[in-house]
Amino acid sequence: MASSSSEPPVDGESLRRNRILSSKLYFDVPPSKVPVIYSSSYDIAFLGIEKLHPFDSSKWGHICQFLIKEGFLVKSQTVEPVEASKDDLLVVHSELYLSSLQSSTNVAIITEVPPVAIIPNCLVQKKVLYPFRKQVGGSILAAKLAKEQGWAINIGGGFHHCSAEKGGGFCAYADISLCIHFAFVRLNITRVMIIDLDAHQGNGHEKDFSNDRRVYILDMYNSGIYPLDYEAKRSIDQKVELVSGTQTKEYLDKLDEALEVARNNFNPELVVYNAGTDVLDGDPLGRLKVSPDGVAARDEKVFRFARERNIPLFMLTSGGYMKSSARVIADSIINLSKKNLIDLKVPLGRN
Ligand SMILES: [Zn+2]
Repeated sequence: MASSSSEPPVDGESLRRNRILSSKLYFDVPPSKVPVIYSSSYDIAFLGIEKLHPFDSSKWGHICQFLIKEGFLVKSQTVEPVEASKDDLLVVHSELYLSSLQSSTNVAIITEVPPVAIIPNCLVQKKVLYPFRKQVGGSILAAKLAKEQGWAINIGGGFHHCSAEKGGGFCAYADISLCIHFAFVRLNITRVMIIDLDAHQGNGHEKDFSNDRRVYILDMYNSGIYPLDYEAKRSIDQKVELVSGTQTKEYLDKLDEALEVARNNFNPELVVYNAGTDVLDGDPLGRLKVSPDGVAARDEKVFRFARERNIPLFMLTSGGYMKSSARVIADSIINLSKKNLIDLKVPLGRN
């Protein structure tokens, strides 16, 4: 093909690679920080929406407040992520999908936030999608910090129902797929394990990584609830299906077995832990009966799984928006710290 330019034609894969290499989401974090990623703009509460929506839409801020109040975290030592730009999102999403989010009706369907009649589109864009893009920036950065420091926690993220072409279930951007593609290119990683323990099946990343041998998916979920995505299920390498009402002991026993199998099946260079707390007893969406201590024990098992073998891991908080969720997540992070699975102190110590 004759061309006046000496530039070779750019195929989809090169374009993706170029977008990742020119992204500003990976930046150097000073040693005065711990790998806990958070921004006050994660929270989506505004104009009383939190009263209309059945969720604690400020759970991310509440988690940090608990950790700070109890002396386990210093606000200035957390890492503020950069908002994912359109070019960053195009690493997995299509122009068509991103333009569909310009419609507040579509966003309302995805997030179950009350529709247009109540909230003008400009507010939907600014107060709902912007916080989500900050959380996406946090998930992507988390992989980098995990590689450098062994672990990281993004206080938000974990939008596991969103795939490249479709959002749903409160998930507008595919942060898990994005962070893995960034890790492939920027961290030279070729084997990633997703451990998805949110109460719901993680159909978004499952669709995006079907037939991709670089990604191993362990998904443990309630098989009787949303999204019932049978097509995506075929992409799960290791599925553990639970029934509504599953209690703590059975839940943790099944997790032990599953981690043992995963350990023998796949040797990852990075673990993405999607730690939804909608497994909690009383959660109206998850319909499981795991106790708060059970959630802490669960998170501890996953951190042990990776940390004992020196595999970098990062946690995303994902689903679970009961009023009690933030407290349970904060307590679990405190437990990880007390068990020396994470270190929330910067080298110079904290006052
Ligand atoms: Zn969920």
